[in-house]
Amino acid sequence: MNRPLEAQDHDAPIFAPGAFRLRDEQAELIERARRFGRRVLAPRAEKHDREASFPIENFRDMHPEGLLAICIPRQEGGLGADFQTYCLAAAELGRYCGATALSWNMHVCSTLWSGALADDLPMSGEDRAEHIARRRLHYRRIIERGAIYAQPFSEGGAAAAGVVAFGTEARPVAGGFIVSGKKIFASLSGAADYYGVLCTERAEGAAASRRNTLYLAIPADATGVSVVGDWDPLGMRATVSRTLLLKDVFVSEQEMLMPRGVYFQAATRWPHMFLTLSPTYMGLAQAAYDFTVAYLRGEMPGTPPVKRRMYPTKQIAVAEMHVQLEQTKALWFQAISEAQPDPSKEQVLRAYAAQHSVMENANAIAAKALRTCGGQAMFKNLSLERIYRDSRCGSLMLPWTAEICLDRIGREALYEPGEKDE
Ligand SMILES: Cc1cc2nc3c(=O)[nH]c(=O)nc-3n(C[C@H](O)[C@H](O)[C@H](O)COP(=O)(O)OP(=O)(O)OC[C@H]3O[C@@H](n4cnc5c(N)ncnc54)[C@H](O)[C@@H]3O)c2cc1C
Repeated sequence: MNRPLEAQDHDAPIFAPGAFRLRDEQAELIERARRFGRRVLAPRAEKHDREASFPIENFRDMHPEGLLAICIPRQEGGLGADFQTYCLAAAELGRYCGATALSWNMHVCSTLWSGALADDLPMSGEDRAEHIARRRLHYRRIIERGAIYAQPFSEGGAAAAGVVAFGTEARPVAGGFIVSGKKIFASLSGAADYYGVLCTERAEGAAASRRNTLYLAIPADATGVSVVGDWDPLGMRATVSRTLLLKDVFVSEQEMLMPRGVYFQAATRWPHMFLTLSPTYMGLAQAAYDFTVAYLRGEMPGTPPVKRRMYPTKQIAVAEMHVQLEQTKALWFQAISEAQPDPSKEQVLRAYAAQHSVMENANAIAAKALRTCGGQAMFKNLSLERIYRDSRCGSLMLPWTAEICLDRIGREALYEPGEKDE
């Protein structure tokens, strides 16, 4: 069994509140997440990874801690974390169980995007009032009953990359929509109470358009909802991201997580919303580094107290890991700190660069950790091989895969909007 990291001294906050000038209430929330990760997530991570089973008890335990409601606005009874605070708290959870942090992200985004993010976007007074009333329904479910929301967007085509309209469609009918489609990689499948699905509203005979994207919470027990397929992947095994089928599911209009048109606006005007997959991997990068330091000092619980730190090659490897970690932290911290509506071109390019760096560097640091610590560090009773596998998954996640980040940086650095070559 994995030993909890509690005995280690090497897991101080990833972003020290004083050094990174965090406000007291931010620091308190992030610390709450860190303690929860260390105490609750770490001891359970190995079992769920091995079984590829969803850690539902982690989510049940998050409820009394307030963590399911971290981004629900204070006036609605939540903890009111802003974007930056959420990212820093999620990185702390990612250190101890990547799969739980990634699944938690899917849940939290349903409240962050309908909460602080939607509050930043213009709406008519009528839409705003309706949105506030509707989102309250979701927030009450989470606060009062510990309801869990998933976020299955991916379909296996170009829609999740933001290129074409979602193939999952919602046909308007009296009082709601009839939704049909298929979502792949639905993290929390079979465990979530609601699936926050992106789909295209399309009336009979109308053309599909990304502008008509709807963000709907579909109850897991609604008629026509099913979860199919196997789940036996390389990493992030405890996310249990199976396939979700929706067949003529009636969804009440009360279940809209955002008013019509607002998701499209958010995706174009609030691009940092897609950075929310990165905190988990920032935490994994830190975890790989922490493991290496503890291991080379002969202080890793579950291993003999053999010191390996005196070899110059190990010292150089740790120094290189440290440099890469600090570079990643600095860029990522800057990017999450400047998230706002209508960011400048420079800020958007920096967000892509931060996403790319976190996703690629987390795995590079984990690979170097394995090479440096050596053969006895790769056994499944230790966390490093899980960190290595989990960290490989970050670059694959749409809409901002590592490749897409590079594509966009290259193109947007060289072309101004509308510019073409003759
Ligand atoms: C552990 C895990 C959990 C996940 N959980 C969720 C979840 O909860 N919800 C969810 O919606 N999705 C989830 N995903 C899915 C993820 O976001 C991607 O949709 C999925 O990994 C894409 O796989 P694919 O083989 O269909 O990629 P493809 O679409 O076939 O793309 C393959 C690669 O080609 C490149 N590419 C794709 N489109 C373009 C383009 N337009 N321009 C340039 N390059 C492009 C990208 O680099 C991409 O990595 C999860 C994935 C993983 C690994």
